[in-house]
Amino acid sequence: MRRTARAEAQERMEARRRRDEMSPRLQEEVPTLLTLRLEFEDFRRGGTSSQTRYTKHIIVARAAALFVVPCPDRECDGEHDISSEVMRELRSSVPEFKGEQVCRGYRRTDRCEHRLTFRVLATYQGA
Ligand SMILES: [Zn+2]
Repeated sequence: MRRTARAEAQERMEARRRRDEMSPRLQEEVPTLLTLRLEFEDFRRGGTSSQTRYTKHIIVARAAALFVVPCPDRECDGEHDISSEVMRELRSSVPEFKGEQVCRGYRRTDRCEHRLTFRVLATYQGA
């Protein structure tokens, strides 16, 4: 019997929460960081127009130095870990940068290949 997608989603959420708690704090990693905003756009495999767009405001004082976005496709088990890319730019005090990542997860037996693009806007002390 296949467990329900809901139970699996719950499990992934719990795993993410634990990982988040164990991660270094964003403010310790980038002490000059004041504000941080991430804008995401999702594209389904092969799609050229975005399906959803959303903005995430990061509470710098409380956030972990971890940027993991679950795949927006509910049937997919994948997630986008953009932490290393984002942290590299933040450590260099880059005020704005963009990136994208293709999902490596699976929807049942199909590769998902959902594409996530992101734009990061940051402000720093003394900038
Ligand atoms: Zn996916």
